[in-house]
Amino acid sequence: MNISIQRLSKVYDNGRHALSDISLEIGSGMFGLLGPNGAGKSTLMRILVTLMKPTTGRVFLNGKDFSKNRAEIREMLGYLPQDFRFFTKLRTWEFLDYAARLSGIKNKKERLQKVDMWLEKVGLFDVRERNADKLSGGMKRRLGIAQALIGDPKILVVDEPTTGLDPEERIRFRNILSDISRHDAIIILSTHIVGDISSICQGVALLDNGKLSFNGSPEKLIEKAVGHVWQISTSGTDYDILKNSYPVISTIPTNDGWDVQFVADSIGDMNAVEIEPTLEHAYVYFMEYLSNNNLTNDINS
Ligand code: ADP
Repeated sequence: MNISIQRLSKVYDNGRHALSDISLEIGSGMFGLLGPNGAGKSTLMRILVTLMKPTTGRVFLNGKDFSKNRAEIREMLGYLPQDFRFFTKLRTWEFLDYAARLSGIKNKKERLQKVDMWLEKVGLFDVRERNADKLSGGMKRRLGIAQALIGDPKILVVDEPTTGLDPEERIRFRNILSDISRHDAIIILSTHIVGDISSICQGVALLDNGKLSFNGSPEKLIEKAVGHVWQISTSGTDYDILKNSYPVISTIPTNDGWDVQFVADSIGDMNAVEIEPTLEHAYVYFMEYLSNNNLTNDINS
C-alpha cells in the first residue's frame, strides 16, 4: 500500500493558506503526522479521507487518483475524527452493527460475528448492551476505533488519538493500533502530542504553519538533536535567565534549585552537561531551530 501526496496546497475561502506545497510518500504501517495546533494537520487529514478537495496538487492510493476514484477510495478508508460522536439511542453492539452495514457488510450473520470480534478486540464485549452514549470517554474512543476498523479499511486515519484519555487508556489505545499495524494497512495518526508517535510509528512528518519541515523516521529526527540537548543544575535568577534564553523541556526540583533540561543550538561556555535526545527533545529542537529554515536541506535528509 502506498499513498503518494504530490504538491498539495489548500487555501480556505478566507484566504488562509492551511497547506503549502506538501509532497509526501506514506507506505504500509504506522505513520505519525506531528505539528502544533494550526499547523494544517486536520486539513491534510480531511483531504486524505476525501471530505475536502485540495486547492492544488494530487493524492494517489496505489497509483489511483483520489479525485477520480472517490467512491472506490472511500470504501478502503476508516476514519476516527477528533470529535467523534454517535447516535445516542443505539446500544454499543447495535452501533457497531450499524457501522458494519455502512461499510457494506450485507450478510447479517457475518456482520454479527464481526461485531463480536471487534467488541472483544477493543475490550467492550462486557458492555455491549450498554447505550453507546453511556460509555466512558476511553470506551467511546475504543468504540470509535472499532467502527473505523470493522470494514477492514486499507487506510485508517486517526485524528488526535489520545485526546481526553487517561494514561492507562492511552496505552491500551496505542496497543490496539500497533496490533492493527501488523496487517498491510496504512495507519496515519495526526497529533500535537509527541508521546503518541514515539514508540509505534515507522515514519513521521512534521507540519509547521502549513509547510512540511521534516519527513523521515523518528530515529532520524532524534539524530538531528544530538549535541543540542543539555541539562544543568541551577537556581534563583540563573534559572530565570536560562528559561528566558532557551526552550526548556523539563524542570525537576532539587534540594537547592532545579535540574533543567533544555535545547540550544550552542551554549557558549555554560557549564551544562550534554544529554541524549528523546523524540520530544528533538521535536522541540527542530521546531525552534530548524523548522522552515533551510527547507531544502532538511526535508528527507
Ligand atoms: P491543525 O489540525 O494542525 O490544528 P488545521 O488544519 O485545523 O490545523 O488548521 C490550519 C489552519 O487553517 C489554521 O490557521 C486554521 O485556523 C485554518 N483553518 C482551518 N479550517 C478552516 C476553515 N474551515 N476556514 C478557514 N480557515 C481554516
